[in-house]
Amino acid sequence: MVSLHSISSTAACPQCGTAGSRVHSRYERTIADVAFGRRCLVLKLLVRKWLCPLASCSQCIFAERFPELVQRYARMTDRLIEALQVVGVTTNGADAAQIVSSLGMPTTAKTIIRRVLQLALPTEGTVHVAGIDEWAWKKGSHYGTILVDLEQRRMATRGAPHAQQVADRFHLQQNLVEALKRFFQRNAHVLKTTTRTLSGQMLPLPTSKVARHIDQASQRYHATRIMLHQLVWELFHAGHPEEEIARLDRSAPCNECFSSLARRRENPSPDKGPEGFY
Ligand SMILES: [Zn+2]
Repeated sequence: MVSLHSISSTAACPQCGTAGSRVHSRYERTIADVAFGRRCLVLKLLVRKWLCPLASCSQCIFAERFPELVQRYARMTDRLIEALQVVGVTTNGADAAQIVSSLGMPTTAKTIIRRVLQLALPTEGTVHVAGIDEWAWKKGSHYGTILVDLEQRRMATRGAPHAQQVADRFHLQQNLVEALKRFFQRNAHVLKTTTRTLSGQMLPLPTSKVARHIDQASQRYHATRIMLHQLVWELFHAGHPEEEIARLDRSAPCNECFSSLARRRENPSPDKGPEGFY
């Protein structure tokens, strides 16, 4: 711990700029500073309150400031904040907190992130080469689009100020196709029954290429769901965490994760966990 105080005999009023020479009172501030030889350093800063000599000034009493050391109301010196930001932007909150703490400046990931977010964004120049990228907040339901400055390799917010986001034909058609496919697969038996009832006959429907395709897709979907069901129970009985199983359930059966797990199930690796799932 280091105690500090100013030796100046006057201080300028922040309101009117007049130098005051009469001290009103004193108080102490506790401020964290950068480490001294990997040791935590705390400053005890004695601050004087001054009387403004200008009678017409609205700031009768003011506290002296230390703009090159610490900002008003701050609990850290400027150089400590800068150190947290430098480490924070090059790693992440948790790692940065661990590194900085081990160097004698104890802090938390939340503090690192808060300090990094206070950094000013770099100024944007003219965008010469722009790229457009899209992603799904929720597939088939909510999409987002960003404009990227490909030269600076960062997101551009001023590249096309008058641009309007519109839905593109390809994704609309793709979503419609997938939604219809899921609907007909789920309701295949209802459609069959309804068609037979309306046609007044209980004979089997004439098999067309499209109908066969829907039937086969439905059977594949059903078989995959059965496999998934069995796999989930096997994982559960093998003692795998329910969170892992829940993630599998959400993503299966139509993606590569399920296929990958199924392959591992058929070819378990002796170096991995029980039954070779992990
Ligand atoms: Zn004043």
